[in-house]
Amino acid sequence: MSDRSLRGQRALVTGASSGIGEAIARAFADAGASVLVNYRSGRDDAERIVREIREKGGRGVPVHADVSKPEGCRRLFDAVQQELGGIDIVVANAGIQRDAAFTDLTLEDWRQVIDVNLTGQFLCAQEAVRCFRRQGLDTARSRALGKIVFTSSVHQAIPWAGHSNYASAKGGLKLLMETMAQELASEKIRVNAIAPGAIKTAINREAWESEAGRKRLLELIPYGRIGEPEDVAKVAVWLASDDSDYVVGTTMFVDGGMTLYPAFREGG
Ligand code: NAD
Repeated sequence: MSDRSLRGQRALVTGASSGIGEAIARAFADAGASVLVNYRSGRDDAERIVREIREKGGRGVPVHADVSKPEGCRRLFDAVQQELGGIDIVVANAGIQRDAAFTDLTLEDWRQVIDVNLTGQFLCAQEAVRCFRRQGLDTARSRALGKIVFTSSVHQAIPWAGHSNYASAKGGLKLLMETMAQELASEKIRVNAIAPGAIKTAINREAWESEAGRKRLLELIPYGRIGEPEDVAKVAVWLASDDSDYVVGTTMFVDGGMTLYPAFREGG
């Protein structure tokens, strides 16, 4: 992969004020892209990230929007037009958890998770495709008309007790991604996903903060370490670049082997 593989490209990363989205925004800027850093509540964090991107000679712009609302996504893409003059890469990454045992799960918590993790990604992707079409292909920038990368989860494949809303959203996202990829590939729009395993961020702090939690988590990870946001960001750079031009409709699992049925390591 070339060092500045996203040179001259314009990118939007949703939920980029922390965790995986933050690492992707930073890695995109390092790879030469101009980056819109979307945040919902972490304004100070988004401004700090953008400041640090600029200090390294990169281009970043913080933009507030709630991606679960159609007007939020429209505002995001208005900002794309105003600030970057167009868009080449969209990483639909924002996500939340609201966990509860199945019969205790409230309709409100079901809806919130579906609204952000599935509908939010759908709304952003829809705006993105409309933008790509309006712009047209510019092979000086990229071989593709546009690239969309969804942040999914290993829980698009692994059922997860106590998280039925989250697993349903990620399972839905898998087929949204594949259906979009199939429908849009002939227009040279590449749609893919990354499915992280256990990555050290705010969303799962209670799972890795304590010694006992870390030990339990490591039992699920054959590779023997908890992931870092940068592990995911490196894959996102590749998926967004022309280096992966023939990769369409794929989910890249970045999970240290979590999806390999680790309980069967001893032979079952
Ligand atoms: P995080 O809590 O650090 O980041 C989530 C980001 O999404 C935050 O910046 C938050 O402000 C933003 N966000 C939430 N609701 C939003 C909304 N309505 N509009 C705009 N932004 C919103 O956690 P993370 O681990 O970095 O999560 C990023 C993505 O990675 C999520 O989709 C999550 O499901 C996925 N994921 C994380 C892990 C993990 O182990 N950390 C594993 C698999 C998948």
